[in-house]
Amino acid sequence: MEKTTKAIHTPYMSPDAYGALSMPVYHCAAYEFPDADTMIDSFTGRSTDPDYSRVTNPTVIHFENIVKALAGARDVVAFNSGMAAISAVAMALTGAGKKIVTSRHLFGNTYLLFTRTLARFGVVTELVDLTDPEAVRAAVDDNTAMVYLETVTNPQMEVADLAMLADVAHAHGAALVADTTMIPFVYADVKALGVDVEVLSSTKYISGGATSLGGLVIDYGTLPGFDTTLRKDLLMNLGAYLNPHAAYMQTLGLETLDARYTAQERNAMEVAGALAGMPEIEVCYPGLPDNPWHELCKRQFGGRFGAMITITLPSEDSCKRFINALGLVKRATNLFDNRTLAIHPASTIFGTLTPEVRRSMDVSERLIRLSIGLEAPADIIADLRQAIEKAVH
Ligand code: PLP
Repeated sequence: MEKTTKAIHTPYMSPDAYGALSMPVYHCAAYEFPDADTMIDSFTGRSTDPDYSRVTNPTVIHFENIVKALAGARDVVAFNSGMAAISAVAMALTGAGKKIVTSRHLFGNTYLLFTRTLARFGVVTELVDLTDPEAVRAAVDDNTAMVYLETVTNPQMEVADLAMLADVAHAHGAALVADTTMIPFVYADVKALGVDVEVLSSTKYISGGATSLGGLVIDYGTLPGFDTTLRKDLLMNLGAYLNPHAAYMQTLGLETLDARYTAQERNAMEVAGALAGMPEIEVCYPGLPDNPWHELCKRQFGGRFGAMITITLPSEDSCKRFINALGLVKRATNLFDNRTLAIHPASTIFGTLTPEVRRSMDVSERLIRLSIGLEAPADIIADLRQAIEKAVH
């Protein structure tokens, strides 16, 4: 069965009493048991009957099961945000004295989670250029618990070679963990390239037009004990399981993911092509054939490039003028809303970091991040063009 069909037709764990076509939302905290033995079996993990919605809920399980079927994973756990999912994975794999090898090109809160939050618990993070095999080999040692990367970095849009990273990580017994928020698991078979665990913000493409926050951990079953630590330790003790209403909306989001992603990507390509002709700016989109990451992105991610574009304007001031001149395009964070969004990352998402740290992360003061939506491309292009004209003249 094709993935687009599976996304719509993956069956429920058990038939619904009324034959509801979409998975009902089980808005309950706890579940009643017919007798003591059934209750004991559920609480001790001998059965999969739900007992308490911090840990298990039929609506959330249905969402997890569809992702499992689409990704071909051993297990999938849904968290209440991308950051909760990333935190759980990092806490499952590392510990005091253990090392994370990653890049400076990270989503801002992931960077702070590793270098500030987890540092307080004795986890060491070494930041290297993950596109440089020599630098990676020099950093990864037998004390390294995880090599962590974003498949397309946000907002630098860098792409690293996953098979190379997997070789180096596995030679030292470290896990390779990839944040695949930008190119969803339905298109990119990162397991085949050596990724052990995939983590992503389902707030973005999956949620179906920015309906809700969510995060997914996709476990390919290559790490001994990881599934047990994740479910029996982190999921239970962190208390960050996805809520049933968000799971319902994200299940609907999965049903339309391919249609939305394909249309947004087509729009992004058209917008990037149109803006690339403007001499005042630089455009970065891996879908453009002359982009430095085009070939690697194409090879690793099934020719899918997503709908995030960045443009570089002549100065920080012109970025402000651009943001203020937007009409149709929304001044907002987030990615892959149905609407086109624009943000100046240096002064917002990365605004509390020092200029030195921002520079080391290659977050330029002259850069604008665009998330291209589902509007008619001519309308998006017209608004961006007029804002650029006002910004640079
Ligand atoms: N990873 C990436 C690449 C992101 O862009 C984001 C959010 O923008 C996150 C993780 C965090 O996800 P969430 O906002 O759902 O916690």
